[in-house]
Amino acid sequence: MVDVVGQYHRYQGELDSAIMEVVRSGKYINGPYVQRFERALESYLDVEHAIACASGTDALQLTLMAIDLKPGDEVITTPFTFAATTETIALLGGKPVYVDIDPETFNIDPEAIATKITPRTRAILPVHLFGQPANMTRIIEIARAHHLIVIEDAAQACGAAWDGKKVCGIGEMAAISFYPSKNLGAFGDGGMVTTNDSALAHAVRTIANHGSERTYYHDRLGVNSRLDAIQAAVLNTKLPYLDEWNASRAAAASQYTESFSAYPELIRTPEVHSLATPVWHQYSIILPQGRDSVVAHLKASGIPHNIYYPVPLHLQKAYAEGKRGDFPNAEFAADHILSLPMHSELTDEDVEFIAHHVLSAVGV
Ligand SMILES: *Cc1c(COP(=O)(O)O)cnc(C)c1O
Repeated sequence: MVDVVGQYHRYQGELDSAIMEVVRSGKYINGPYVQRFERALESYLDVEHAIACASGTDALQLTLMAIDLKPGDEVITTPFTFAATTETIALLGGKPVYVDIDPETFNIDPEAIATKITPRTRAILPVHLFGQPANMTRIIEIARAHHLIVIEDAAQACGAAWDGKKVCGIGEMAAISFYPSKNLGAFGDGGMVTTNDSALAHAVRTIANHGSERTYYHDRLGVNSRLDAIQAAVLNTKLPYLDEWNASRAAAASQYTESFSAYPELIRTPEVHSLATPVWHQYSIILPQGRDSVVAHLKASGIPHNIYYPVPLHLQKAYAEGKRGDFPNAEFAADHILSLPMHSELTDEDVEFIAHHVLSAVGV
């Protein structure tokens, strides 16, 4: 699905020396390498504050702790995402409140949000799923009208834009993941919170550092969440190439879409909203006639593929509150979606080969 080793080989010299520089410096925790990467990401994303932490999941937790999410507080989000999106809401005693997705983009349906707002609602947590921004224009309008905070789950969308503005700087806060398979991936775990609000930035930084602003003085409950200096150096070396990699992904996505365009009743290709500039974390198709035979064919041909995500969150045992039929669009997507290989190292020949096999699997 992704070729992380292939990408490493392309930049091996640069990456090896960045890693060894940290090792030789002895500055392993926080320090100049982490700061350098934070400043570089601020400038890349056009945000005021980027605060490094240990993972995308931690980044989400830090944003929710920074707004003082209290037990019983509700956060409106999508059921069609990775569990990390809502895990941290529940861990803090909050309640994830789901609304259905837009079947065209797989992102939260903004028009469904207003119906779920209650006096306990604190925040809206849209996910820019598969690298395509959610409809931030409508989400921000709804949030402003109801005095809600917007936290963007941008784990899959570093570099994506909505209406000409990069995601991560649109809501009050955003969470990014540097998990190795993400568009900007470390050689291990890593995450970042971004915000344009200096009070929130200060809160996030303090919470991530054991709730401490001055060593051994703890003003609030915190956690230990840090980005390794080695990972920061790796990410700082990779960041200048991110746009180029995202452009390769976009080219592969266009080639897939073109290859399947004559057969919309057999293969539904991803729709891109006219205001969205996606970064194609995944290329996911819908197989309305069922995916089992296609999965079997791809498996037999040795072509990587995956199902993101087979069970929507309202039907997961950990959140056993929902039932089948609650969110039909999310359930349909979970039952019919299939993601094809997507990464910066795909060649035209690779995409042609994969598309050819998908087409023959559906009987074309
Ligand atoms: C990967 C991911 C996360 C979590 O990131 P980690 O760095 O793995 O903790 C959160 N939300 C979404 C949508 C993700 O894809």
